[in-house]
Amino acid sequence: MADGAGRAVLEDGRAHRHPGGAGPRGGWLLAVHRDTGRADQAGRAGGPAGRRRAAVHRLGNGHAARAGAAQHRQRPRPADLQPLHGLVGVVAGHRPAGDAQPRALPPPHGRLERGARGRHGMNGVIVVGAGPAGLTAALSLARAGIPVTVLEGENELSRQPRACTFHPATLDLLDDLGVASRLVAEGRVVDRVQWRDRSGIVLAEMGMNRLDGLTKHPFRIHADQASLTRLLLSTLSVYPDVDVRFGTHVDGVAEGGTGIRVRVGHTWTRARYMIAADGAHSTVRSSLGLPFPRSTYPTQALRVFSDSPLDRLLPSLAPLTYVRDVQQSCTLLGLPDHWRIIFKIPCDTHEPLSPANLTLLIRRALPGASEPIRVTGADRFALSRGVLTSYRCGRVLFVGDAAHLTSTVGGLNMNAGIHDAVELGQVIAAVIGGFAQPAALEAWAWRRRSVLLQRVVPRGQTRPAGVREHDSARLAAAMAGLRAIAGDPEATRAYLAQASLLDTVPNSAGRT
Ligand SMILES: Cc1cc2nc3c(=O)[nH]c(=O)nc-3n(C[C@H](O)[C@H](O)[C@H](O)COP(=O)(O)OP(=O)(O)OC[C@H]3O[C@@H](n4cnc5c(N)ncnc54)[C@H](O)[C@@H]3O)c2cc1C
Repeated sequence: MADGAGRAVLEDGRAHRHPGGAGPRGGWLLAVHRDTGRADQAGRAGGPAGRRRAAVHRLGNGHAARAGAAQHRQRPRPADLQPLHGLVGVVAGHRPAGDAQPRALPPPHGRLERGARGRHGMNGVIVVGAGPAGLTAALSLARAGIPVTVLEGENELSRQPRACTFHPATLDLLDDLGVASRLVAEGRVVDRVQWRDRSGIVLAEMGMNRLDGLTKHPFRIHADQASLTRLLLSTLSVYPDVDVRFGTHVDGVAEGGTGIRVRVGHTWTRARYMIAADGAHSTVRSSLGLPFPRSTYPTQALRVFSDSPLDRLLPSLAPLTYVRDVQQSCTLLGLPDHWRIIFKIPCDTHEPLSPANLTLLIRRALPGASEPIRVTGADRFALSRGVLTSYRCGRVLFVGDAAHLTSTVGGLNMNAGIHDAVELGQVIAAVIGGFAQPAALEAWAWRRRSVLLQRVVPRGQTRPAGVREHDSARLAAAMAGLRAIAGDPEATRAYLAQASLLDTVPNSAGRT
């Protein structure tokens, strides 16, 4: 079915306006497992599948929005349709054993939406997943005038506290999309990075202003990723050709004819290209039978949340501080209204996350605190590493966690996913608009995968020597090395530029 504007509507015709905002803070899960998505102790995040309703979130209210979008719009030219390679595809759950290639399938059963046959379907793009990567890709496309349909399985944006670091390169890209200033206003500015020992002695410190001239944003922002997705969703709402549908779980993909078909229940929707931004457990990836070799790190992340003002309790603490100790290192991240204390603990640690255990852990890690640090919650999750063999499978392009996983060290993976998405939106728009050949998609896929393998993954694995081995001499040497870098302005600039991914983003102000 289609609405009056020719946009696709789910078969049951129900349309529910989604409130959009990330909602009030608090109520998060205890012990969410990144690999399974299960929670040891249920909180408020996410609704059970049984309560899912098909919800259509219709964005675009005409008026000024249409005028704004028209400024960006370039008419796609039919002559630039990509050559077809027959009907290939798979249906979720029918994964071909030991076969990485998509299989030929019979034509999809069920109905093809009427709206999908129009301009929207033929020249539009379907994005699966309304996380940071999917919504960024949607906005990148929308700004280029490409009709976009975002299909999100959950009934609302995720409110889980997850990644919280936005690097300078990412802020530059988000600035081009018109959302950086609001994110900066909502987040906490990180103007320096500090290393200290458990007793509070500052071992090294680097000012982010060393990045002046390389980026428009010589600082990091700490804000939960839910702030970004909320801002992206609200920005998308001014584009009349953007349709974000919640409660719409994609369960099948088929390529053929003049584009791609995406199945939601018994309904098929059609588009020129599909962006799979459906996260670490990508249904699209498994539907296509694509192998995703991954390995798990020997340590898991334990995050403790506190609303105590750590920078008051620990003198001269920076909003990003690495406490280095051979027994128990940790990372302190200051957000606008709370702090996160991240530990790496062995995977076989199963001690309950009780207030008593957590308080003891923190007291040992931060003995210099002038007052007890109040624990407001905690979770732990496994850390995996994996990179998809190719980010492109026909007309399906993978971004974000669906394409790559790295450790959370340095907060790189979400940032890299946003970078994938911005650039892919531009490339697809150029291909649909006739300004680039379809081969540009393959070049994008190759380039982004190379960035991941050669730069992001190695940086995500860097930890000061001595920490893992409990070797105090090696740790002291590593800290001396960092102090030497901190004492040299050029070396500091190079160090921070790498840590900020400024050397990996072609369109960033910090392009090298
Ligand atoms: C508990 C947890 C804690 C984390 N903590 C950190 C951290 O401290 N630091 C850090 O750097 N990173 C952290 N991460 C990783 C970070 O959150 C991800 O890198 C980031 O969310 C990736 O964004 P994305 O848009 O690629 O995927 P996601 O944010 O996972 O978004 C994918 C979206 O796709 C939707 N979806 C999935 N399947 C379908 C389907 N079949 N049909 C329709 N929609 C679908 C999902 O509902 C989801 O909204 C954490 C992740 C988790 C799970």
